[in-house]
Amino acid sequence: MSLAWQEIARFGRKVVAAGLTSSRFGNISQRQGEKIHITCTGSMLDELDQSLIVEVERRGPCELDRQASSETCVHRSIYQSTPARAVIHTHSPFVVALSLLEREAVEPLDSEGIIFLGAMPIVEGHFGSEDLAAAVSSVMQSHKACIARGHGVFAAGSSLSDAFTFACMAEHSAKVRYLVKAYPSCERV
Ligand SMILES: [Zn+2]
Repeated sequence: MSLAWQEIARFGRKVVAAGLTSSRFGNISQRQGEKIHITCTGSMLDELDQSLIVEVERRGPCELDRQASSETCVHRSIYQSTPARAVIHTHSPFVVALSLLEREAVEPLDSEGIIFLGAMPIVEGHFGSEDLAAAVSSVMQSHKACIARGHGVFAAGSSLSDAFTFACMAEHSAKVRYLVKAYPSCERV
């Protein structure tokens, strides 16, 4: 059975391979009881090893928060407000683009997105701020994914596999919606 850091590293490689984020952007966490395993600040998600994943407290800030992702407060708030066991945050390009074009939410137009993902509300808030944490965790009580405007998407699930699926669906639905809206004629062929 793989260790927590090995599972996070495996999904880090999948997130980058899927084109959901690049360079040092994005972060991944998994909850185990009262602990959260989360990627370190500035780490590349396709080059994670044991030294780049730290264990922080679910209930509140702790010493290792300094090494952890700058978005740790958002992850922690989701774990405090929902039954989620895993959270993936990416700077997916079509999600980011649509968050700057749409007002309140990105509504999927593709069939899987409509059925399995649903609307992705867009919230405001600076990187790693308590305002962003409060806004995202509030949305995640009733949605699979939440978009921080101009920034990226937070997807949560009962496992890393679930969170990854919703992160992929978020970008796919955003891409399909963007392409449909960009089509020069509203008439169907
Ligand atoms: Zn981010």
